[in-house]
Amino acid sequence: MMALGCRGDVGSRLERVDRPFYEERLRAFLPERMLDFHTHIYRAAFTGVRKANARTWPEHFTPVSWGVPALKRYYERLFPGKQVEPVCFGMPTAAADVDASNAFVAESARAYGVRAFLLSSPRWSARELEERLDAGPFLGLKPYPVLAGSSECSIFAFLPPAHLRVAEERGLCVLLHLPRAGRLADPANIAELHEVSQKYPRLKLVIAHIGRAYCLPNAERGLPLLRDCPQLMFDFSASANPDVFALALQEVGPQRLIFGTDLPAVAFRAKRICEGDHYINIVARSRTDDPHIRVADPCEAGRLTFFVYEQVEAFRQAALAAGLSAADIEDVFRRNALRLLYG
Ligand SMILES: [Zn+2]
Repeated sequence: MMALGCRGDVGSRLERVDRPFYEERLRAFLPERMLDFHTHIYRAAFTGVRKANARTWPEHFTPVSWGVPALKRYYERLFPGKQVEPVCFGMPTAAADVDASNAFVAESARAYGVRAFLLSSPRWSARELEERLDAGPFLGLKPYPVLAGSSECSIFAFLPPAHLRVAEERGLCVLLHLPRAGRLADPANIAELHEVSQKYPRLKLVIAHIGRAYCLPNAERGLPLLRDCPQLMFDFSASANPDVFALALQEVGPQRLIFGTDLPAVAFRAKRICEGDHYINIVARSRTDDPHIRVADPCEAGRLTFFVYEQVEAFRQAALAAGLSAADIEDVFRRNALRLLYG
């Protein structure tokens, strides 16, 4: 006989699990208007990723193509009654067709009125970057380590000084995914972030995923060392640890945090746990042997809700503990991003 909660449940998962989670915890906490600072839109032809070759969990779980209509449907499903506006950019993969990705994003931005960032190839000169910026409605740059050929590289290998100067002069945001296995705690990353902050004091730099410090030990080693770079912002997309969020609120405060999801990489139901500094996504089913994935037992699987709900819930817990005001929460979920984009 199966335990209570495993069987005999009435209604769809959306009605049984997701809606109550949203209504009881998230709806009243979230502002009416939200801005999602971190989303990818792309067609399969631009990424070079084939499901048959998928190795990592994002390659397994991320849809082969995704556009603004799918993103909007997902928001409507997750956040009924709220208005969510995305910032969109292409999917940076080692085999990405960067120009085709950016053309698709530019076309989508015009067709649907969404904000867009440009995937930037480190191979471009300043002039080649500026030509692309002049042609499209881009408010920021999305450089990415693998576009320089490796994730074990200097920040300047994929975000060259020539691009930093263009971004600073034009007032563009730069959404930076940190390289190196040491992530936010890597001393070379910390030193380079200080260097960028000193040399480009007006640069609008946002560190994606809180520097990939998904678990507390990494965040504890890195965040306090960036407290003294006041213009550095952090998006907390794909991050779902309340202790990391509590530390971020303590070290850098709500004015330097920006909500983002990283959809569609996290368009699944999953719960995130940490074992030491190793994060694990607990999912209902999986065919990947990625060490960041663990399959739930059948009872737990039936209770899993959207990863994005777990993310917002983790932030809510930290926000409540830190005594954030409703105005602080509106800042994190929308106004900090708007100030950065247009300030
Ligand atoms: Zn992303």
